[in-house]
Amino acid sequence: MSCHFRHRTPVTKVNNLGEYISDISMYLIVRCENCYTFSYMDRFQKWKLCPVCGGTMERGSVPEYLEVADHHEAEAVIAELERYLYENKRTDFTLDETEKLRAAYIRRVSSSVENR
Ligand SMILES: [Zn+2]
Repeated sequence: MSCHFRHRTPVTKVNNLGEYISDISMYLIVRCENCYTFSYMDRFQKWKLCPVCGGTMERGSVPEYLEVADHHEAEAVIAELERYLYENKRTDFTLDETEKLRAAYIRRVSSSVENR
């Protein structure tokens, strides 16, 4: 069953430095430092306004959790992160947990590629 991958053919793009970039991870999961709302921004964005408090989330100063392929993935991952924190009565992830989340996400993505 390959039909639902038809729209997801990997595209090679070139950035403004002339480097080839893969089209796999396009969005970064970030977190607002003011109100702790998870959000996502385009990989090439330098900053984004928090949809909740209006604060500026700047690349490099806000925590970055994961890179995902599209905004549907981003929303799904954010829901997962929030549920994890809620269920564990936590307010943030340790570095170790962030690494595990990344590994789990990469595993999930690569297994969906293998099942193509
Ligand atoms: Zn905020």
